[in-house]
Amino acid sequence: MAVRKLLVPGAVVGHVTGIRPAMLSARGVRGLIIDLDNTLTHWNAPGCAPEIAAWLADLRHSGVAVCIVSNNGPARVGAFCASLSEPVPWIAQARKPRRSAYLRALALLDLPASSAAVVGDQVFTDIFGGNRAGLLTILVSPLGRREFAATRLVRVVEALWLRRLHAGGAVRSL
Ligand SMILES: [Mg+2]
Repeated sequence: MAVRKLLVPGAVVGHVTGIRPAMLSARGVRGLIIDLDNTLTHWNAPGCAPEIAAWLADLRHSGVAVCIVSNNGPARVGAFCASLSEPVPWIAQARKPRRSAYLRALALLDLPASSAAVVGDQVFTDIFGGNRAGLLTILVSPLGRREFAATRLVRVVEALWLRRLHAGGAVRSL
C-alpha cells in the first residue's frame, strides 16, 4: 500500500470518550489497542482521570477488550495501568510505528486484526503503525500540548497533512 494511504486515519474522533461501544460493534471491533500519552492522559501525567476510567469500564462491560500500547517506558506505562481498578494488558517501549507491538497486542487480546482498532493522537506513530498492521485506526485530538520536543516538531507536518485530508474530504467520523 502506498505510504500516503497508510497515513490516513480510518476515523477521527475528538476525544476517546466519544468512541462508544455501539460504534465499535457496528464495525465488528471487539478490541481496542490504545495509546497512552495525550490519548488517555496528559503527557507524563500520573494516574487516570475519572471520566477515562469510567469510559474504560464501560468498554469492558460492553465486551470490548483493551490493551495499552505506548512508546513511553515501562515505569510510566506500568504505573498508569496499576492505577486502574481492573488490570489491563500493556506494552511499553512499543517503537511505534513499527508493527511488532501491535501484533503482540493482538496476541494478548486473542483477536485478529480485522476485529480490533488502534486509537491514538499521532498520525506518524499510531495511525501509520496501525494501518501497517492492518487495523482500523482512530485518530483522537491530543489532550494537551505538552510532549517531547521532537513530537512538537512532527506536529507541524501532521497539521499540514490533516488540513489536506480535511480539504479533500478524506476525514471520516466513526
Ligand atoms: Mg500519544
